[in-house]
Amino acid sequence: MPHTIIEPFRIKSVEPIRWTSRAQREELLRAAHYNLFLLPADDVLIDLLTDSGTGAMSTHQWAAVMEGDESYAGSRSFERFSGSVRDIFGYKHVIPTHQGRAAERILFGITCKKGDVVPNNTHFDTTRANVEFVAAEAVDCVIPEGRDPRCNHPFKGNMDVGALEQLIARVGRERVPLVMLTVTNNSGGGQPVSMENVRQVSAVCKKHKIPLYFDACRFAENSYFIKVREKGYESKHPKQIAQEMFSYGDGCTMSAKKDGMANIGGFLCTNDDLLAQQEKDLLILTEGYPTYGGLAGRDLEAIAVGLQEALEEDYLRYRIASTAYLGNHIAAQGVPIVQPPGGHAIYLDASAFLPQIPPAQFPAVALATELYLEGGIRSVEIGSLMFGKAAKMELVRLAIPRRVYTQSHVDYVVEIILEVWKKRESIRGLKLLYEASFLRHFTARLEPVA
Ligand SMILES: *Cc1c(COP(=O)(O)O)cnc(C)c1O
Repeated sequence: MPHTIIEPFRIKSVEPIRWTSRAQREELLRAAHYNLFLLPADDVLIDLLTDSGTGAMSTHQWAAVMEGDESYAGSRSFERFSGSVRDIFGYKHVIPTHQGRAAERILFGITCKKGDVVPNNTHFDTTRANVEFVAAEAVDCVIPEGRDPRCNHPFKGNMDVGALEQLIARVGRERVPLVMLTVTNNSGGGQPVSMENVRQVSAVCKKHKIPLYFDACRFAENSYFIKVREKGYESKHPKQIAQEMFSYGDGCTMSAKKDGMANIGGFLCTNDDLLAQQEKDLLILTEGYPTYGGLAGRDLEAIAVGLQEALEEDYLRYRIASTAYLGNHIAAQGVPIVQPPGGHAIYLDASAFLPQIPPAQFPAVALATELYLEGGIRSVEIGSLMFGKAAKMELVRLAIPRRVYTQSHVDYVVEIILEVWKKRESIRGLKLLYEASFLRHFTARLEPVA
């Protein structure tokens, strides 16, 4: 078999991207106060800000969009949507929401109260915020290897089962309304969770009669990592792996903007009849009627098809190979990255890349702005600007939108990163001129230090 992995699609519709000169980018960056969130997207050549909702839909999805039934209640599109979700996830109740965080808000709003504790391998930021919004405590229990950027472990997203047991023993079972498992572990570098770990976590939950929920946003990528890295799964189809994984839980939250291959959408699943009734009642108040939940019928159709496409082996092989290709080509030249490459993104370790810049001068913002200046690439800082003093690492995330960029785009990104690597000693830090009182990274204004 030839070893070149090609994009498993051909292109039917193109979206032009625009070149800018270095002088223009210098001016654009000044006007955006050195905050890439404040740049107009048209002035970005390659946009790696996020893989959320930025993917390209297939011809099958676009055809399904035309089949959308926009009936308020009992829409045919809801039947297709819930059928597709049930086929993969296997849960009894399927509740559509406008995106992942809406599913989280409804789940935690009903199951959690003040003083409760929610364990997770690593809470995603919206997940943590929604747990904390109901005055419960969000506790991360990822294995120690998952906290070390240079440690190479096949399942760095695994839950530390011993730490989970200790946490339940310490706070008491009554204070733990549910346990969550995030697949793949986004905030931990897009690292997968093994099936063995899922089984162990599930056993602990069953022993204490605590429901297990998946934060399933990147379930298809996680299934593929299990297929290629875990013994006994080599010849299984990613869909069978996903079905087995979800069979160990009681429900899930999902953002269809990730492995739903759609531009908007999400859902919430549960096997619990009483909980589902309460969730639907709250859904009607804030999202919409339970057969559309804040989405158009055409969105439900796109998601129904997208979920199945996300599990196709050719797609997953290309997806994981393309992310690894970027990571491996820069790492081979000495660029420090979080190892091993995750499913949806590569993370540059900015403290190792720019050791001359202290955290107070935002090394990862400096690196991200330099990538834009050098080649019009937009990435995102995950470090001291985003988390303040709570930041544990200074990272630049390069998230890869699904089915959007080709091999030559990735080659270009590699080239630009290596150019910046060569001139790393001349890069300076930044100082903060304005910050909002919460989520400051979205609107902060900065300038280079003198
Ligand atoms: C994106 C994401 C969410 C939130 O989903 P939205 O659709 O952005 O609201 C929750 N958890 C994880 C792991 C995610 O990656």
